[in-house]
Amino acid sequence: MMKLSGRTTIGKIMLMGAVLMLTSLVACAQKQKKETPKKTTKNMEWNKLTKEEEDVIVRKGTEYPGTGKLLNNKEKGTYTCKRCNAPLYRSESKFESECGWPSFDDEIKGAVERIPDIDGMRTEIVCANCKAHLGHVFIGEGFTAKNTRNCVNSISMNFVPDAK
Ligand SMILES: [Zn+2]
Repeated sequence: MMKLSGRTTIGKIMLMGAVLMLTSLVACAQKQKKETPKKTTKNMEWNKLTKEEEDVIVRKGTEYPGTGKLLNNKEKGTYTCKRCNAPLYRSESKFESECGWPSFDDEIKGAVERIPDIDGMRTEIVCANCKAHLGHVFIGEGFTAKNTRNCVNSISMNFVPDAK
């Protein structure tokens, strides 16, 4: 009798362990499933912006140099538009320019539009999808082999790390 009840207890413990393991597995799978927001061209579906974000993205302001959240980000992943989620830059294009803003020597093909400033001094860059102001592009400074510096406000972008 003693032996039998002992065995049942062990069985119960094992079963509880299996259930626990299963629960944590499911929780893990759910976490990985969490998708990155989809790119959208519909104004109605654009992400809501804070006043600070609007100052740059809508009113074409510039964030204070050296303050951007993504300035020193060295993780692998994709930089996306804060407003419409369109992928803009890959981490492989990011380089250290010490100008105080995130710098990229190339954009994701077709993701960024260049618009010369009215005074002809600089070239503005905007998200090709939703026209959000990103920053300015400078050519011929010799920072990298591509000789291009997309000088982008951190606040205009989100960062989506690569899946590990
Ligand atoms: Zn956009």
